Amino acid sequence: SNPDTWAAVDRYLADTLVGHDPALEATLAAQSRANLQPIEVAPVAGKLLHLLVRIACARRVLEIGTLAGYSAIWMARALPEGGALVTIEAEPANAAVARANLDAAGVGDAVDIRLGRAADVLPSLEGGEPFDLIFIDADKESNTVYLDWAARLGRRGSVVVVDNVGRSGEVANARSEDEQILGVRAGLEALRDDPRFDATALQTVGVKGWDGFALAVLV
Ligand code: SAM
Repeated sequence: SNPDTWAAVDRYLADTLVGHDPALEATLAAQSRANLQPIEVAPVAGKLLHLLVRIACARRVLEIGTLAGYSAIWMARALPEGGALVTIEAEPANAAVARANLDAAGVGDAVDIRLGRAADVLPSLEGGEPFDLIFIDADKESNTVYLDWAARLGRRGSVVVVDNVGRSGEVANARSEDEQILGVRAGLEALRDDPRFDATALQTVGVKGWDGFALAVLV
């Protein structure tokens, strides 16, 4: 088994269970035309987020890290009538591409893009209805800050997903000095030590290489 096999199996699984989707494919084309990095979740992972929103019966979803709106479209489509997704993005250019993509995909009305650094935007969400699912996918250095906010903005039973916790195996390198690896490790330690969470994490392989995600519930 090697990365080519992982990618081939991932494509097979996506072809079999996800299928073609003009709105999502147009989103990725627009992302590429705007020269944004192809760092969106894989199709099978987007579908997983979609299913998690449905399984959790989530009405309010929070995303940290919008990029071009690919994962946001997946999650917004899983919302019931009247549901809402708030997604935070620091880069104005990314947010503009995302706005157009979300509108074109027909989910624009359900999605509120908040422009700014997440650490600055998150406090403004306090006092609203709790979020039922929170997807953390931005600067990994800030994962502990985002997890703290996830716990504050969620409620008992809310689902928290943290992307990119495998990082080609580097996450297990205790001597790494890479800021992102240190951030990912600190986030996983917070999920272990903070009594507000109960969590696990899974490695993934596929079209995005070797990575993983953490899944937690608010206790
Ligand atoms: N969730 C997206 C998807 O799967 O389609 C991918 C998000 S991409 C991995 C990370 C995004 O987070 C980038 O668009 C980046 O500009 C944004 N970002 C990075 N640091 C941020 C911060 N401090 N606050 C808000 N957004 C940030």
